[in-house]
Amino acid sequence: VHGYDGARVAVLGLGRSGLSAARALRAGGAEVLAWDDNAAARERAAAEGIAVSDLTRPGALDGLATLIVSPGIPHLYPAPNPVIAAAWAAGVPVDNDIGLFFRSFATAGWDDFDTAPRVIAVTGSNGKSTTAALIAHVIGATGRAVQLAGNIGRGVLDIDPPGDGGVVVLELSSYQTDLARALTPDIAVFTNLSPDHLDRHGGQGGYFAAKRRLFSEGGPDRAIIGVDEDEGRFLANQMAMGPGDDRVIRISAGGKLSGPGWSVFARKGFLSEWRKGRQMASIDLRTIAGLPGAHNHQNACAAFAAARCLGLGPKQIEAAFHSFAGLPHRSQVVAERDGVRFVNDSKATNAASAAMALAAFPRIRWICGGLEKEGGLGALTPHLGHVAKAYVIGREAAGFALHLKDIPHEVCTTMAAAVARAAQEAETGETVLLAPAAASFDQYDSFEARGADFIAEVEKTLGA
Ligand code: ADP
Repeated sequence: VHGYDGARVAVLGLGRSGLSAARALRAGGAEVLAWDDNAAARERAAAEGIAVSDLTRPGALDGLATLIVSPGIPHLYPAPNPVIAAAWAAGVPVDNDIGLFFRSFATAGWDDFDTAPRVIAVTGSNGKSTTAALIAHVIGATGRAVQLAGNIGRGVLDIDPPGDGGVVVLELSSYQTDLARALTPDIAVFTNLSPDHLDRHGGQGGYFAAKRRLFSEGGPDRAIIGVDEDEGRFLANQMAMGPGDDRVIRISAGGKLSGPGWSVFARKGFLSEWRKGRQMASIDLRTIAGLPGAHNHQNACAAFAAARCLGLGPKQIEAAFHSFAGLPHRSQVVAERDGVRFVNDSKATNAASAAMALAAFPRIRWICGGLEKEGGLGALTPHLGHVAKAYVIGREAAGFALHLKDIPHEVCTTMAAAVARAAQEAETGETVLLAPAAASFDQYDSFEARGADFIAEVEKTLGA
């Protein structure tokens, strides 16, 4: 990290991104103070020789050049963390690892497009990880150096930015875009918007505002924007200089996009690219095993557009799509027996993403429930016709079940009971689908742990 040589800086929150920020700042010559409310996290930092210092003490922030905050720490809603509030009072700039990344590795202008390293940033409510991973996969398949980092599990400051011709693909959550003081990707992708994390952003407006920061004036050279919601249509309109402006590529999973501009959309299982009123490419997405369902068709459109911005040809991109294996816990087929498929979509943590999973399969034994999110379950309603029966898990399973009204359902509470029951009742042609439409934290540490438990129970049930 450049710009902090000899400066005193502080890092609040010592998870993965906090630790990597502390290391990178130290490597850049800064004097780093670090703090976490959790004693075990402090010990891990101290073991690496990072100076632990109680930032909650009065005066602890005096003379600091910046305070770097982890994405898990609330800075505004529901209430600011006291250290952050103290930084505001003391006039200390608050930033995060993403801001440090962009300030240190500012990218070259669009003119040397073929050779300069590129940064592609992906945000949105759903499909971020899949889209980012698919973009990185497509670029990697052409032999170009590519690094994938951000919300997807690897700290942005842990990567070695590739040199000329290389690409960094970042998945950015609203918690990351909200605080970063610099956000200057070459290509920015907005997949879609649905209610999520509303408590942390003071409502839907704040949530959208956090994501929009990636598309500020003077921001990305290319903006790839999902226009299936009003927010996306608004954003595309605000970014474009005029109707035929090539800076914006509109994407949709909802059918044909007409207009003089550049668009990539999925319709009846086919991806189409149009530019200045002419069709440029078409791909049969139904034959691509790693991208099942309309939601993945949207992700494919976004990745296709990003790859086109880098100069890749449609045939190259199509070939790379075929070798994409998908990501674990997202429409992951884990077993099949007697014509019944078992699909792990533990990552469907909100109603909009679970709705997409429901739409992707015709008859479903649906395992759902967990910690309810604000924003409600209304998005599920249009797809409940696919549900043969719901098997509700979670500590508050009975409460969750109330939302299902006249959908046949059973309160199972545990994953073990839900899988056993669903497997027993499933008929040929049906899918046993874990798509919880809720967070996992009432019963698990993470959505990954929940998905792993589902897989273990499926194996147990089928082995029995
Ligand atoms: P994110 O990183 O934004 O959470 P993922 O790619 O991990 O997105 O997908 C999360 C879940 O959202 C998936 O399990 C799937 O159910 C659903 N999903 C994936 N892509 C989309 C999309 N484009 N639109 C809506 N839902 C999606």
